[in-house]
Order: sequence, then C-alpha cells, then structure tokens
Amino acid sequence: MELEIKNVSHTYKNGKKALSEISTSLTPGVYGLLGPNGAGKSTLMNIITDNLRPTAGEVSLDGNVIWKNSNAYRARLGYMPQQQGLYSSFTGTRFLWYMAALKGLSHREAKTRVNELLELVNLKDAADRRIGGYSGGMKQRLLIAQALLNEPDVLVLDEPTAGLDPKERIRIRNFISEIAADKIVLLATHVVTDVECIAKEIILLKQGRILKKASPMDLIREMDGLVWEFLIQPEEMAGVQKKYLVSNIMMTDAGMLVRAVGNGEQFPAERKKAAANMEDVYLYRMEADIG
Ligand code: ADP
Ligand code: MG
Repeated sequence: MELEIKNVSHTYKNGKKALSEISTSLTPGVYGLLGPNGAGKSTLMNIITDNLRPTAGEVSLDGNVIWKNSNAYRARLGYMPQQQGLYSSFTGTRFLWYMAALKGLSHREAKTRVNELLELVNLKDAADRRIGGYSGGMKQRLLIAQALLNEPDVLVLDEPTAGLDPKERIRIRNFISEIAADKIVLLATHVVTDVECIAKEIILLKQGRILKKASPMDLIREMDGLVWEFLIQPEEMAGVQKKYLVSNIMMTDAGMLVRAVGNGEQFPAERKKAAANMEDVYLYRMEADIG
C-alpha cells in the first residue's frame, strides 16, 4: 500500500500560499508531520483526506488519484480533523452510532464496531455518559474512535493530543502506536514528544515545504557535532539566548548549563559535545539558517 503525494501546492483564495511543491510517499507505519503553527499541516491533511482540492498536484493511493475514486477512497480512510464539534448532549455511544450512520455502516456492522471501539479507546465505562462531562482526553479518544469505525487503511490524525495534559498525551501516543499496524498513519503535531518514539519517519514541514523526511534515528544521527553544552554566569543568560540557538538551560551544581545547537566554534571554548535528541533536531532544522 502506498499513498503518493505528487507536486502538491495550495494557495487559498485570499492569496495565501499554504503549500509549495509537496512530494512524498507513505507506506504502512506512523508518520509524524511536525511543524510550527501555520506550517501547512492541516492544509496538507485536508488535501490528503479529499476535503480540499489542491491548486496543483495530485494524491493517489496505489496509483489511483483519490478524487477520481472518491467513494472507494473514503471507504478506506479515517480522519480526525483538528477542529471538530462534539455534541455535548450526546453520549459517547450515541455519537459513535451517529458517525457510523454517516459513514454508511450497516446496523449490524455498527453494533459490533461501536462496542469494539469503546473497549479499544477505554471508554466503555463512560459510554453512556454525556460527552459534555468528558475530560479532554476522553473527547480526543472518542474522536479517534470515530476515525476508526470503518477499519481504515489510511488514518489521518490532526493534532490528536491538542489540549491534553502530559499523562493523557502519553496514553494517546501509546494507543496510536498500538493501532498503527498495517495502516498508513499520518499524525500532525507541533509537539516533538508526540511522535519521536512512535514515528517510523518524521516529516518536518516549514512554511509549506518539506524540509526533511527521515527516521528519528537518522535525524538524530545527522546532528552529530551540532549539539553543545557549556556553563555560563546568570548575567550572561539574556545575551546567550539572543546569540545562540538555545535548546535548554539547566541549573546544575556547577552553575547554569546551556545546551545549544550549532557547529561548535561560535560557542565558548570550554564547550562539551552532547548527544542530540529530537528537540535539538527540531530547533536546528526549523530555526537555523540551513536552507
Ligand atoms: P498548520 O495546521 O500547520 O497550523 P494550516 O494548514 O492551518 O497550518 O495553515 C497554513 C497557512 O495557511 C497559514 O498561514 C494559515 O493562516 C493559512 N490558512 C489556513 N486555512 C486558510 C483558509 N481557509 N484561508 C486562508 N488561509 C488559510
Ligand atoms: Mg493545523
């Protein structure tokens, strides 16, 4: 199974160019679409889910252009949009039944699937309570469940952990990696930790362009020699943050320890090389002027 994005560009009616010449190919596994707000993540997802026709380029699944085979494609697609209203007076069960009807599942299919999914997303106990009383995490899990009703081969999740506390984030993340087998999962986020451990590949998107697409390991490996730590005096802090790409500042017994990305020579002489992590990758790729 292969989802191919070919030379996709999109300019909104107001003249805003949101995507420029996006080309990439996705196979089963989790892809993290990572980029700051405004990078074009939701625009790309709206195009991939056939909710928005790009101004140029095309998207195909196994060679079939998705908007030429719209019904067949939708039957294989699950989508959790970034903004989605939930009917707060509905119960979790009723919402899923409603969505199952919209997706054209038969009564029998719906019955089985709704029960399975409530179990899977761990909402069985809350299934007959009103959504209005759900926590943020419960709502997100319910929205993921609706995206899974039709057992999709392609699952698109737009900021599924938005607004969640750290514990709920971890739960959702683990859960996504569990359900990902045999599916193409594309998960958009601006939070590095949402995808660094579960993504097969990370796609770094900035100002409508793909800066980089690679496995987390390769991205980190490429940072060798680009992450440094050095001690500073507290009064140097403001200057240091202006001068360098600082990924972290930590109070230690020896003083303030700065972690910064760059090729080394610009940092103080007593710098020490540090092992890179995904946060460093993100900072370096997004902020450094490396084209
Ligand atoms: P992200 O999801 O990465 O935050 P978006 O795809 O939502 O990015 O937005 C990309 C760019 O397109 C932003 O500059 C945004 O303001 C603009 N944009 C998004 N939706 C519209 C729209 N409907 N009309 C005009 N501009 C839009
Ligand atoms: Mg978005």
